[in-house]
Amino acid sequence: MIDTHTHIYLPEFDGDRDEVMARALSAGVRHMVLPNVDCSTVEPMYRLHGSYKDCTSMAMGLHPTEVGADYGNALDEIASRLDDCRFVGIGEIGIDMYWDKTYRTEQMDAFAEQIRWALERDLPIIIHCRDGLNEVLEVFDRFDRLPCGVFHSFGGSVDDVKRIRRYGDFYFGINGVVTFKKSQVPAVLPEIGLGRILLETDSPYLSPAPFRGRRNESSRIPLIAECVARILDVPAEQVSETTDASAQDLFKLNIKQQI
Ligand SMILES: [Zn+2]
Repeated sequence: MIDTHTHIYLPEFDGDRDEVMARALSAGVRHMVLPNVDCSTVEPMYRLHGSYKDCTSMAMGLHPTEVGADYGNALDEIASRLDDCRFVGIGEIGIDMYWDKTYRTEQMDAFAEQIRWALERDLPIIIHCRDGLNEVLEVFDRFDRLPCGVFHSFGGSVDDVKRIRRYGDFYFGINGVVTFKKSQVPAVLPEIGLGRILLETDSPYLSPAPFRGRRNESSRIPLIAECVARILDVPAEQVSETTDASAQDLFKLNIKQQI
């Protein structure tokens, strides 16, 4: 299994990062994609990847909640890192109107600029979209062609899936939210289809049941895979095989070790 979205480099894991990585690997999570958040997270992300080169990959980008009035400086700094090494995607980028609508225009411009980076480099995008689908699609409208990518932590409706698909054959990142009691996510899984689902934890956030509210970690991917298997009524192995193949396809992962 592959955790396509995990932030194990964040301070929440400073006390036991190596144990967390060991637990993920022994739970069968053989690869983890680390998306960047802002300028302050670049170095910790590089350090984690440096210690776990074979089982982690990195994506570079500026998270929409970190886009403020002076986002130009942050974006320049992130752009200057794009040639540091091989990134498997641009992310996480997108629109978040849930926490704060003040910088709506700035978020849209920053998102567009980072989509340009992805197109120039032929990289997929990792999209964070919270209460922002209209804005995301408005930004998409500015482009003649789009990179491929994933709507990470997807929590939208069947109609949202259909709207997104008018723009491209995107993947949808499914995490612990699918296990929550009143979650809308199970109802959209058949529309998305197993072939377009990517598994993710979004650690340290969004722990699946029965760990809801606690710090999340990548070792909980099997709980999400089992839940997806139950909802789609397919064997758990089929979920891990199909989603692994999709993750490798999208991010062109270089997975050396097969566990
Ligand atoms: Zn994230």
